[in-house]
Amino acid sequence: MRRESTRVVCGFGHQFETSVYRSANVTRAPELRQAIVSGQFNLTICPVCANESYADVPFLYHDTETSLRVWVYPDRNRHAREEILAKIRRAAVIVNTVLPTDRSGPELIFGLDELRDLIA
Ligand SMILES: [Zn+2]
Repeated sequence: MRRESTRVVCGFGHQFETSVYRSANVTRAPELRQAIVSGQFNLTICPVCANESYADVPFLYHDTETSLRVWVYPDRNRHAREEILAKIRRAAVIVNTVLPTDRSGPELIFGLDELRDLIA
């Protein structure tokens, strides 16, 4: 699964570049589902203080077996729910021309805890 470089900030305020997953197709990569459940998903280690923290970036969780396709946004974006929904729906209109449109479950959730509840 492809990873993307992004800038993150550790719990002590150090900024660094790291690579994170922006999508997780757990049908093709079941280990990513395992990583989410066990708290290892998008875990970063600060090069300055070695502090481990979750890289809180939006990603698309996709399980083709259960047709679950849900965006997981950071908890801090919860207040912007309507804007984010509008954005992902606009993007879906484009994507749906090449991907199957069948899906189940919510379109958008916030934080890994909600995702864990959903897939547990
Ligand atoms: Zn640090």
